[in-house]
Amino acid sequence: MTTQTATPVVARTRDELAEARAALTAGDVAVVMTMGALHHGHAQLIKQARARAEHVIVTIFLNPLQFGPREDLSRYPRTFDDDMEICTREGVDIVFAPTPDVVYPEGDPGVRISAGPLGAVLEGQARPGHFDGVLTVVGKLLHLTGASSAYFGQKDAQQLLLIRRMVRDLDFPVDVVSVPTVREEDGLAMSSRNTYLTASDREVALCLSQALKAGADAAAEGPSAIRRAARSVLVKEPLALIDYLVLVHPTTLEDVPEWYRGEALLAVAGRVGTTRLIDNMPVRVGPGGGALQVFSEHAGRHEAPVE
Ligand code: AMP
Repeated sequence: MTTQTATPVVARTRDELAEARAALTAGDVAVVMTMGALHHGHAQLIKQARARAEHVIVTIFLNPLQFGPREDLSRYPRTFDDDMEICTREGVDIVFAPTPDVVYPEGDPGVRISAGPLGAVLEGQARPGHFDGVLTVVGKLLHLTGASSAYFGQKDAQQLLLIRRMVRDLDFPVDVVSVPTVREEDGLAMSSRNTYLTASDREVALCLSQALKAGADAAAEGPSAIRRAARSVLVKEPLALIDYLVLVHPTTLEDVPEWYRGEALLAVAGRVGTTRLIDNMPVRVGPGGGALQVFSEHAGRHEAPVE
């Protein structure tokens, strides 16, 4: 049993990871995959992993495959010492922090995992190839860590959906667990990218979570009321350059029709200053509707036209 205060083993190479992994003999191993610059959202994933698994591996890897040529790979915050403090506090066993040449020893991999059509909409439309890059590295890190469960944030709803699809479609022997979005007190979803925001950007950025909340508050009235309520918040903030605001089916990501009742994803993306931000809220549409923390296991399977 790991003590809460022991410093995690840091593995930089495949051999170091294999050696540290082999030492975790008894019990399940869970993995939390990150790009570093850890915050309370990441800590929450680690806590949930620790609560259910005997051992936790955190990966810290800025995956070049998922960044486009004009994206923020080079300016992405790197805070390894602080990350280690959080991992130590949360009782992590192993931190796997490889460089790209360790993960991709042959350079750009010729073979990638394709996210398919679900990877081409919403974030995938704004960031072509992004989800192929994500799934490829998630697949590799699942193999390298040998974890039997993996924890991902609802904050990245489309990523979570695609990872669930990959695990099911390609028979990965791993249990995918989703963790609710952790927010600042004022509602802003925590993100490593929030450090890019100036004080005034940060004020502007609040409109994203406020729009989602307004939409969720209108959930009982149906899809068009939800969309209208959310949009009415966003139009009051012209400095937020909205890329999309959608209310979509939780597994097909298609716009839900007006008759839809059941679980749906209210998602927003936009640019504030120089920073692209995303946020979302799972909602129940229809009588008794409102915000949900995460989707139920059968989300989207029970929708039915209104009688
Ligand atoms: P990232 O380091 O941004 O790639 O995120 C690593 C993991 O942490 C992903 O599964 C994210 O969905 C999750 N995550 C990031 N921000 C939050 C948050 N505010 N609340 C919950 N999970 C989060």
